[in-house]
Amino acid sequence: MLYLDNAATTPVKQEVIDAMMPYFTENFGNPSTVYELGNKSRKAINDTRKVIAASLNVDFRDIYFTSGGTESNNQAILGVVEACGIKNPHIITSKVEHHSVLNPINKLKKHGIEVSYVDVDKDGFVEVDNLIRSIRDNTILISIMFANNEIGSLMPIAQIGEIAKKKGIIFHTDAVAAYMHTPIDANKLNIDMLSASGHKFHGPKGSGFLYIKSGAKVAPLISGGSQERNMRGGTENIPAIVGMGEAVRLAMDGIEERIKTQTHVRNHLIKRIISEIPDSKLNGSLENRLSSNIDISFKNVESESLLIMLDSKGICASGGSACASADREVSHVLKAIGISDNLAKGSLRMTIDETLTIDDADYCVDSIKSIVAKLRSLRI
Ligand code: PMP
Repeated sequence: MLYLDNAATTPVKQEVIDAMMPYFTENFGNPSTVYELGNKSRKAINDTRKVIAASLNVDFRDIYFTSGGTESNNQAILGVVEACGIKNPHIITSKVEHHSVLNPINKLKKHGIEVSYVDVDKDGFVEVDNLIRSIRDNTILISIMFANNEIGSLMPIAQIGEIAKKKGIIFHTDAVAAYMHTPIDANKLNIDMLSASGHKFHGPKGSGFLYIKSGAKVAPLISGGSQERNMRGGTENIPAIVGMGEAVRLAMDGIEERIKTQTHVRNHLIKRIISEIPDSKLNGSLENRLSSNIDISFKNVESESLLIMLDSKGICASGGSACASADREVSHVLKAIGISDNLAKGSLRMTIDETLTIDDADYCVDSIKSIVAKLRSLRI
């Protein structure tokens, strides 16, 4: 099997499972207790906090564990609005955010919060001029993703961070698609809040974190006990936290080399498909793109049929994002970059890891080529 859907989720690495196991068995203690068993759990959590903080070049006290990307995004957005202390706050986001950003914002709109959706250009990059023009006196939050999960565009985060800092606006970035797939220095980039999810980089599902720079005013989403310095009530999921920490440790090791290997195979795949399959179009740009992401549209092809036929050849891929594929609507991301419905309905996303070889890539291209030709020949 060739698994080319690493943006949907990744397999948990054996080392990660090995690191987690003791926290299900002998080290099962509640970290809020005073005896040694509890201390071990508390230490494991704080050690993980340090590993994650180091990966972002931030203070370890500013990392808060969550159940994943969706919770981190909800916590960031709803928490900033609740804590802002003004009646009619304004938020800036983009048209290509994940639904775990767009939907909490939709909820806020029903309560009168003002929202601006910044446009993206034809390659899916947020238009910075448009963003600057959207800033108002009551803007309290800018939430722009680090990289788009569907078409892989790496957003102009440094520029946005600088603008937000100058204006004193909190800058949140959904880095679920980017974290551990591209190096991130949150401190240097002036990021105030950053969301990440463990299952996107060989950690367990149900693990994630939100970085909140000290000083940013944020109310908790889940109230309860005093865990996570009163930011997230509930007994901590220690095996998940430890597993995510081990996954970060493994992913940080050789990240630059991995990106180089993937970029080489990615470009080979893209170049062969675009040059050998007529009426195919790369969504997003070849530059400033996640090294793992390939998103291509084929004219006069239904992506669902393409995916089923690829599956029969042992290839797992996606028609867009995994979350969007269930509701079968044309992707809001592809709409935002302005491609036709015909092309949007025939999109194929492949998200690779460093194990994919050039030979594997050639097998994929040959399979896609024959399937696309067959599907087009069957079309009336
Ligand atoms: N943001 C982005 C960009 C994502 O790709 C995803 C997962 N598809 C999420 C948020 C949600 O993350 P999780 O699955 O951990 O809730």
